Amino acid sequence: MESGAGKTGEAATPILRHMASAAQPRQGGALPEGADGDGVGDGLAAPRILIVEDEPGIVDFVTRGLQAAGFLVQAALDGEEGERLALAGGFDAIVLDLMLPGRSGLQILASVRGAAPSVPVIVLTARGEIEDRVVGLEAGAVDYLVKPFSMAELVARVRAQLRVIAEASSSTLSEEDIEVDLLTRKVRRAGRSVPLSTTEFELLVFLLRHRGRVVSREQILSSVWGYEHDPATNVVDVYVGYLRRKLGTPESPAPIFTVRAVGYRLGGAA
Ligand code: CA
Repeated sequence: MESGAGKTGEAATPILRHMASAAQPRQGGALPEGADGDGVGDGLAAPRILIVEDEPGIVDFVTRGLQAAGFLVQAALDGEEGERLALAGGFDAIVLDLMLPGRSGLQILASVRGAAPSVPVIVLTARGEIEDRVVGLEAGAVDYLVKPFSMAELVARVRAQLRVIAEASSSTLSEEDIEVDLLTRKVRRAGRSVPLSTTEFELLVFLLRHRGRVVSREQILSSVWGYEHDPATNVVDVYVGYLRRKLGTPESPAPIFTVRAVGYRLGGAA
């Protein structure tokens, strides 16, 4: 069980926007303290983090630490305000305590997952409450931190999640000197534009998504062609041949390797 220190007082408090520094209160779009001039977090794109936690000491600690790391931080000290802010959107990540007055962390997690499934939620749990972590992860939290945690630990977890998001939302795939833009569907090899048919493009994207790994003909068939097929068909081999011819040059063959009796592998060296 979490310590309930201070809980009764906060439950009645109507506020909920918490400012870490009394000397320099900072509202929503303001620059985080310590971010000016050091090149971190002082651009327009400073990530915005919401912390929902009812223990003022932890809120202070987390807010100061995240601001020093270059994040914009907003805090809610009870579940209702936390949920309202979380659903209002505009946050790149949410740090969420589970035991909260108002709405529980799990209720907030469920609402956030419904409204903004891609926003990473890092759950704070009390020491030893393994069940909380399991339930939290099942409910859609991406990570958890056990109290007491160090600031470095929290900053590292938040950064890791933001990195995952950035990669997942990237519209390009690449391996060695092959680049595919998923939005414009343009393909380049060593800077040279390579026009592909729709099927060739889908095949290349599939191989790139599994780059460095061996994929079987059956996996390729069901993912790229997506229908019941004659197991004896050689359509995969034919299309791999087309791709190799279009991507490769005499000096620089395409890095699509045949793995005998299994299938193909893109990249990962010969
Ligand atoms: Ca709590």
